[in-house]
Amino acid sequence: MFKGLLIENDEAGYRTSLQDIDEQRLPAGDVTVRIDFSGLNYKDALAITGRGKIARVFPMIPGADLAGVVEDSTHPDYRTGDRVLVNGWGMGERHWGGLAQRARVDGDWLVPLPARFTPEQAMAIGTAGYTAMLCVMAIQRHGVTPGDGDIAVTGASGGVGGVAIALLSSLGYRVVAITGRPRESDYVTALGASEILDRAEFAGPGKPLAKERWAAAVDVVGSHTLANLCAGTRRRGIVAACGLAGGMDLPATVAPFILRGVTLAGIDSVMCPRQERMEAWRRLGTDLDLATLGEIAHQIGLDEAIEASSRLLDGTVRGRVVVDVNRF
Ligand code: NAP
Repeated sequence: MFKGLLIENDEAGYRTSLQDIDEQRLPAGDVTVRIDFSGLNYKDALAITGRGKIARVFPMIPGADLAGVVEDSTHPDYRTGDRVLVNGWGMGERHWGGLAQRARVDGDWLVPLPARFTPEQAMAIGTAGYTAMLCVMAIQRHGVTPGDGDIAVTGASGGVGGVAIALLSSLGYRVVAITGRPRESDYVTALGASEILDRAEFAGPGKPLAKERWAAAVDVVGSHTLANLCAGTRRRGIVAACGLAGGMDLPATVAPFILRGVTLAGIDSVMCPRQERMEAWRRLGTDLDLATLGEIAHQIGLDEAIEASSRLLDGTVRGRVVVDVNRF
């Protein structure tokens, strides 16, 4: 038996609870992992609370990511005792995820834990931090250098936003943080933001083309915010869009794309090919200041994850939430 959060959805309703689960119920896979830490991502909070349709099969263990030790493996690349992490690949959606003491997964999903990180630090980064790295890589691939101008980052007090600010500032970019939480100004500045803007400025309908303010942007919000970010991006710039915290819609015009050559780059961390995934984790190992990570993340026990999910969706949680799955 192992402890895990379990989402059930049947005639008794949609509910999540901490349960003792028989190992025989673990899904098919060639590697079993003894989990040390998981993380609480926006998507996990939607699944746990039922506020979003994330889990596709029931019962479901939520949790898009995990870090731990291989307990049992028939995969040629992994042996008992290897330290690994997994994120995405439908974990917590179609396949049982990381908010539990055990997981069984396809060995091809595993990433060897980068030597620089403890399992806890890897989960402090988690899916959010790795997605932030994918956004930064998209901006760099596009050729934007620190000399080209500012980089705007939305959701600055959240997980993706915080790691994006830390990464961009350590790479020498001047970061404009966009947040709805002025009380977190000191935190956002400590991560490396040079300027802070109120997210309310971007939340409603704007002009098709606005003053050119940034060379690139990282957006976790979507909707009008994403449209306004595109409208304010400099000629030939790029907006890396990865989130929908403000809405799934995109009420935009094509003006920034056809008149200024702005690129809208979609970022998908879940099914990201293995090579790019490995490169993102390698880059996190070289570009992220681990001291900053201590600022971004705080730890909770497995039994606290249900209550923390509501707070996360209400926008009152700062940075990243690391879950010690062996504390309950
Ligand atoms: P998070 O820690 O909850 O941060 C989201 C932040 O967005 C909040 O802290 C808040 O920042 C801002 N926000 C929340 N509600 C808002 C609203 N109504 N309007 C404007 N801003 C709002 O979540 P996260 O883990 O960083 O994830 C952020 C988004 O990225 C989510 O939509 C998530 O699903 C998505 N995501 C996508 C991928 C992918 O593969 N594409 C991977 C990871 C995450 P402020 O208080 O500072 O404004």
